[in-house]
Amino acid sequence: MKLSLIIPCFNEEVALPFIYEELVKVSAQLAEYEIEYLFINDGSTDRTLTVLKELASSDDRVKYYSFSRNFGKEAAMYAGFCNADGDYVAVMDADLQDPPSLLPQMLEIINTGEYDSVATRRVNREGEPPIRSFFARQFYKIINKISDADIVDGARDFRLMKREMVDAIVELNEYNRFSKGIFGWIGFRTYWLSYQNVERIAGETKWNFWKLFKYAIDGIVNFSQVPLSLASYGGVLLTFVSFIAIIFVIVRRLIWGDPVNGWASLVCIITFIGGIQLFCMGIMGQYLSKTYLETKKRPHYIVAETNDEEPIKIK
Ligand code: UDP
Ligand code: MG
Repeated sequence: MKLSLIIPCFNEEVALPFIYEELVKVSAQLAEYEIEYLFINDGSTDRTLTVLKELASSDDRVKYYSFSRNFGKEAAMYAGFCNADGDYVAVMDADLQDPPSLLPQMLEIINTGEYDSVATRRVNREGEPPIRSFFARQFYKIINKISDADIVDGARDFRLMKREMVDAIVELNEYNRFSKGIFGWIGFRTYWLSYQNVERIAGETKWNFWKLFKYAIDGIVNFSQVPLSLASYGGVLLTFVSFIAIIFVIVRRLIWGDPVNGWASLVCIITFIGGIQLFCMGIMGQYLSKTYLETKKRPHYIVAETNDEEPIKIK
């Protein structure tokens, strides 16, 4: 049995030695598996690539794929899935927030044959700003209401999967990738393993509030068409309201005559309607821009350097 471990790295020079040490430790417990580590260097600007090369020169389980620029974690994971050829494949962060020490337990669960994948979720969000936790919770509530991919609150990208599931993921080659949604959408039997949140071992998080906000919008646009129908519902509602307003104005005219006033209310109505129209156009724009990018069929990533003899360099 072969096990592939995918580790996306973006400016992780300080964290890499820690994760490598941990991986070696865990691998020793998994002697019955042939193991490969796929480090994806996502256009780091620090010494990540140099560190990876050093690791690769002393350990032939280490494979590195270095992108020509930063393509984002989603692209890095996709490159990993394309290049992994294990019977089991796992993805994990480089900062030890996804503890590799859980792997033996995850393998045990998947080997019972009852599940195709073992996913992880953190039960708490310790060490995270409260306001971020609040918005994250709202996001999960909303997206689960309006999309058919079920997305678990607190779910991490850290999972162990069988070959069949990885093939399904690679087949879903959409350009706008939202892995949490993709994992949910493809189905398969998933076991959820809970664990306490761990803080990053070294270095800094690559996410700030604005990036997370955009990520959340991406998730919604990628997995739900509900916002598009909001425009039509809003339109119907407003038409109805304006119909009543027209009747009101006519009746008033007939009863009280025609004093010219109402400038203020008119301005309010115009700006209100204008706002709603722009908002709806914005929603359509979001979907349109996604469609635009999909139709271009640009590659998800470009590998500039690797030690893999038969790499899938562009996909
Ligand atoms: N990452 C990446 N490309 C990016 C941003 C992040 O490959 O553009 C990697 C990063 O190196 C790490 C993982 O994705 O291994 C998760 O990133 P981070 O720890 O910053 O996110 P957080 O855990 O704070 O959500
Ligand atoms: Mg992290």
